[in-house]
Amino acid sequence: MMKKNVKTRFAPSPTGVLHIGGARTALFNYLFAKKHEGEFILRIEDTDRERSKPELESDILDSLSWLSLNWDSFHRQSDRTEVYQKAIGKLLENKKAYLSKEEAGDREQVIRFKNPNKVIKFDDIVRGEISFDTSELGDFVIAKSEKEPLYHLTVVVDDHKMEISHVIRAEDHISNTPRQILILEALDYTRPEYAHIPLILAPDRSKLSKRHGAASVLEYKEKGFLPEAVVNYLALLSWNPGTEREIFRINELIDAFSLESVQKGGSIFDEDKLRWINKNHLMKFTPGEEQYEEFKKRFLGSKKFEKKQWSFSDEYLRSIWTVFKERISVYEEIDHLIDEHEFDFFFEKPQYEAERLLWKEQNKADASENLRELIDRLSDISDESYEHDTIKEALWDYASEKGRGEVLWPMRYALSGKERSPDPFTLASVLGKEETIERLRSAVDVLKK
Ligand code: GLU
Repeated sequence: MMKKNVKTRFAPSPTGVLHIGGARTALFNYLFAKKHEGEFILRIEDTDRERSKPELESDILDSLSWLSLNWDSFHRQSDRTEVYQKAIGKLLENKKAYLSKEEAGDREQVIRFKNPNKVIKFDDIVRGEISFDTSELGDFVIAKSEKEPLYHLTVVVDDHKMEISHVIRAEDHISNTPRQILILEALDYTRPEYAHIPLILAPDRSKLSKRHGAASVLEYKEKGFLPEAVVNYLALLSWNPGTEREIFRINELIDAFSLESVQKGGSIFDEDKLRWINKNHLMKFTPGEEQYEEFKKRFLGSKKFEKKQWSFSDEYLRSIWTVFKERISVYEEIDHLIDEHEFDFFFEKPQYEAERLLWKEQNKADASENLRELIDRLSDISDESYEHDTIKEALWDYASEKGRGEVLWPMRYALSGKERSPDPFTLASVLGKEETIERLRSAVDVLKK
């Protein structure tokens, strides 16, 4: 088989920000081009002058750059009016199109394509053979004037001039394809291959929209999703490698991808799955230092941090991060944990009533005695060896002897002021020896009152 140079294009109209669906179309075009060592073109389709906005074009470019779907060349249709004008001229000259006087609408005259009224068949790589009787389309409009081409014409001319080998786009363009094939035949162009990929659906199987919580690509960036995780998740919408594998980095996707294994059925957007994939990428691939920097930025930037009661060392922040890390899938959850008071005890000394320190039927004297014993035992640990396992070792026998609830509940409550928190050894190791002992002493004072 002769190898054809693969060239794909992503052709968004800058009439809205880039959403998940558009990003997935861009991704499939990117993966297919890279897989075949071809080229991936970005083409901004702004023939609709009223609805196209430069800031929306910027949003699209920024979104693709964030996802690292880098294009090999860039085109904007509004810069290419002359190219379309020539094609329209040729169609008019060859009587494949004509100036048509209009009675209705906002124009007296438009340019219509002279429909040969035939059946168009094409082999879609995803959907198989598709056949369409074009006679029902009539003589459709292809331009408002020679200098104002419309979508069907510009797509056909550009796909030809840019030597696009494969048109990979969403399924809602299937009905446009017969029209576009008629135009390209009239211009004596060769047909590209077509692959129409299924839509992304909301959980109720309707077309995914903002109402279902589907955010724009840049909103995922703001929430602190990792671009590689978003790419990984998008790839799995209507495609799979034929195995159970779900975690892929971009180069692995390029290796595994094929249009033949794209499914016909639409797939449902599932944000929980995206979060799960994000967690996998975060834990497996993000360098520890990068994770920590992101945490630090969010933690130090939080309102609570301004009101903190003591000064934190970098070491302290690093150990807090180990606790947060267990609990998050996406960076934005750091902010949520802070806002929801989950970890207030890292910022400030807890406030509580004496009764809260008592385990079940325990009395104040017993709790107090246990806390004093813990203070002694913790004081005996040297500063260098003060860490989770040594702390546990130093306290465990005593807790087992006197009752784990009776010893560890008052300790945990004294350190966190919360019914639920990480285990007391983790709390003690993160808070550090000095702060831990101070909090246990305060608890003893509270019990005295
Ligand atoms: N500009 C069209 C759109 O934004 C896509 C055209 C195409 O992929 O052929 O929907």
